[in-house]
Amino acid sequence: MVRFISTNGKSEAVSFGKAMQQGLAPDGGLYMPDSIPRLPPGFWNSLETTSLQQIAVEVSKRFIEDELSEESLQALVDQAINFDAPLVHLYDQVWLLELFHGPTLAFKDFGARFMAQAFARLDENRDRDLLILVATSGDTGSAVANGFYGVPGTRVCLLYPSGKVSPLQEKQMTTLGGNVTALEVNGTFDDCQKLVKTAFGDKMLREKLRLSSANSINIARLLPQSFYYISACGSIRKATDPDVSPVYSVPSGNFGNLTAGLLAMKMGLPFERFLAATNRNDVVPGYLKTGIFEPRPSVQTISNAMDVGDPSNFDRLKYLFDNSAEAMRKVLWGASFDDLETRNCIKRIYEKTGRVVDPHTAVGLLAAEKYRKESGTGQPLIVLSTAHPSKFADIVEQEIGRPVEIPEQLKACLDKEKTSIPVGKGYESFKSFLTEHF
Ligand SMILES: *Cc1c(COP(=O)(O)O)cnc(C)c1O
Repeated sequence: MVRFISTNGKSEAVSFGKAMQQGLAPDGGLYMPDSIPRLPPGFWNSLETTSLQQIAVEVSKRFIEDELSEESLQALVDQAINFDAPLVHLYDQVWLLELFHGPTLAFKDFGARFMAQAFARLDENRDRDLLILVATSGDTGSAVANGFYGVPGTRVCLLYPSGKVSPLQEKQMTTLGGNVTALEVNGTFDDCQKLVKTAFGDKMLREKLRLSSANSINIARLLPQSFYYISACGSIRKATDPDVSPVYSVPSGNFGNLTAGLLAMKMGLPFERFLAATNRNDVVPGYLKTGIFEPRPSVQTISNAMDVGDPSNFDRLKYLFDNSAEAMRKVLWGASFDDLETRNCIKRIYEKTGRVVDPHTAVGLLAAEKYRKESGTGQPLIVLSTAHPSKFADIVEQEIGRPVEIPEQLKACLDKEKTSIPVGKGYESFKSFLTEHF
């Protein structure tokens, strides 16, 4: 039976449901499974004929089996993962894993929807509403809000940095209403994250409110992100040959997505390398180079969902590699790119292949291309395509010189009125807002 322990090592081991409800462990650490079950050879050998949804059930039952029957797990998966993650060929050995076919058109739908459905089934304490607090630099907010929208017994409070998310992302977060409240913070994403972290550490507040987090620190968001690494492996085998060890390039900010890839690795996923691809917020590639972790304030870029100066999942990365930069380097390879390189990549890929990629995906592509050049690998390179280009239409259109098609899901919310509550970045005013409104 898998239990969940804190990366700080000073909290008791808990079940998946408990770890999900707490978000952060009481000692301030992040929850991780105490052991990661390897999936059996029979599973890996039949991957080419296994659907994403079947993979989801096979993986999650090994972590949640003592709390949910396989039947309810199946229902959870059917409701949460009701879209696919196709692998499409880009050119040569380069492939895109399209993770943007969910309702908010970004990969965060996987984690957010799985988590919302898990809450709906695992939350025992039903007499008080659960308040989900989320700091977002863009896509998390809309994915979480959509995932929890209308889930009974839950309310969602989003914090986003004013003027630092795309107009479309803002519309997606601020037009739902119902059990979703959006706070527009006069500060950066790091300020938003700090407010949320302080609230979780505030004992008095936690006596009044039942708080939970839905940021990528929550283990319930992390686990479902491992599913598509595994399904991509099945797809690439089908398209190339059964013995491949792909390179996975992961456009990263808070490093939840990459950490989920490492969980899949521990379950037995074949791989050559994982690429930590970042924009100018490059503390992890910097660590891989120097062995020194130097968090700093985030800088704004065109791949804004990755504008993170102090990635919260770094503790999990360290934990997975026993604090050894040397061990981490054997698995992870890092590279960072600036906005000009990212823009040129969007343009070049469009001219070369006719495909339109968003700025986050472009950062992943740049890393894949650089890695291939430096390593000379002959393995397929799978770039995680984390958002649909229409979410960043203003930037993308400048590079490709034509409008990008906006899918129906997005069109619908563009016509609605924004409703947000402006707040400062000071903790005391945030706290009084919470106690007055929830
Ligand atoms: C959140 C996000 C990322 C970064 O993912 P992390 O898990 O925070 O590393 C990359 N691209 C897009 C589009 C995102 O929304």
